[in-house]
Amino acid sequence: MEAPKSINLLHNKQIAIVGGGPGGLTLARLLQLKGANVKVYERDFSKEARVQGAIVDLHFDSGLKVIEAAGLLETFKANYMPGADKYRMVDKDANICMDEHNQESSADFGDEHFRPEIDRGALRNVLIDSLLPDTVVWNSQLVSMQLVNNIWELQFKSGTTALADIVIGADGYRSRIRSHVTDIKALYSGATIIQGEIDYPEKDCPEMYELVNQANLIAMGAGKTIAVQPRGDGGLTFYAASLYPENWIKTNGIDFNNPEEVYAYLVKFYEGWSHLFLTLFKACTRFVPRPLNYFPLDQHWDTKANITLIGDAAHLMPPSGEGVNTAMLDALDLSECLTNSEFKDVQAAITAYEKQMRERAIILGKEALDGIKDFASPTDESIKKLVQQFT
Ligand SMILES: Cc1cc2nc3c(=O)[nH]c(=O)nc-3n(C[C@H](O)[C@H](O)[C@H](O)COP(=O)(O)OP(=O)(O)OC[C@H]3O[C@@H](n4cnc5c(N)ncnc54)[C@H](O)[C@@H]3O)c2cc1C
Repeated sequence: MEAPKSINLLHNKQIAIVGGGPGGLTLARLLQLKGANVKVYERDFSKEARVQGAIVDLHFDSGLKVIEAAGLLETFKANYMPGADKYRMVDKDANICMDEHNQESSADFGDEHFRPEIDRGALRNVLIDSLLPDTVVWNSQLVSMQLVNNIWELQFKSGTTALADIVIGADGYRSRIRSHVTDIKALYSGATIIQGEIDYPEKDCPEMYELVNQANLIAMGAGKTIAVQPRGDGGLTFYAASLYPENWIKTNGIDFNNPEEVYAYLVKFYEGWSHLFLTLFKACTRFVPRPLNYFPLDQHWDTKANITLIGDAAHLMPPSGEGVNTAMLDALDLSECLTNSEFKDVQAAITAYEKQMRERAIILGKEALDGIKDFASPTDESIKKLVQQFT
């Protein structure tokens, strides 16, 4: 039987997407809707292997647009967290400076300003559940890959292997695929986040839990910020951000696997802040230090014949609320280029996709870099400006 016209380029082609994050899973869904043969190779042992982190908001002209194109808007609506898109800002004494909880929100789906929040794990499940059975191959951490007679041979840490005609690197900021496309390395933004997970905040830091109120809390003081978000399972995630020298993680002598040591550091670093923040640090059982890196905005490579990158693997940038949204847009653009019958071969389709992806990443990356210093190390002036922006 002849393949539908829309997948001519992909007819009889096996596609390997490496990485089952929001970018890779969205791409798998969009390509399967067009009848393509897709597998997603994900290093996690199973769907339940780890908490995916806190909430993420999808935007009208990016994440939500893609969710709609993927035919998943109704499922998304059944899984998002109504009200979690509200923001509350406090100062270092935990005094509220700005509070959207007091404001009536009329925004809803279809409104370009509406940015519904969803738990990252819930979003991942929405995407996984939309795929054909066994599309995601768990416990598949890619360790190496070679091109032999125009076919990619993939090797995984588990000892298994796979073959593919086309490989898409959706494996995030430490991508193993990226070096097959470009040798351009990430740079350090100057900011580092210490991420913390609290599993039982209602019990372990009740005042803080109440202040967060199931939505976004941002606490800013000169030179440092703490952002706190709810998780879908009742937990909290916080991001304690500031400017640190490059390699601080390696040179500071703190064992981040030892919560007591990290707590002691944070108590000192946030000296003079309300005791509420100390209760947050005390209740935390897992800390992860995250130096915020980015790929140079002017990065360029010659498009390869049958391999490309999406999401953080392509254009890592400091967090600015756009990363998941952009990874999903990359997936949409790439799936369209590969299936819209406008290109003579896969390489031409990838060339068109990479042009769109790169143009978008330059704009968003610049905004993210400009914004990260204000976020991680605000001045009294920039805090005032931010409060005004919100009010
Ligand atoms: C502190 C912080 C807060 C953020 N907040 C937001 C936010 O509020 N909103 C937003 O839009 N973005 C946010 N981001 C950015 C966002 O998380 C990323 O941009 C987004 O997750 C990128 O999606 P991705 O699919 O490209 O990669 P990832 O989400 O990183 O997914 C990559 C996947 O690949 C898998 N993988 C990795 N290596 C391998 C391998 N070798 N073999 C197989 N599988 C592999 C991983 O297990 C993972 O599942 C934040 C980032 C940080 C650091």
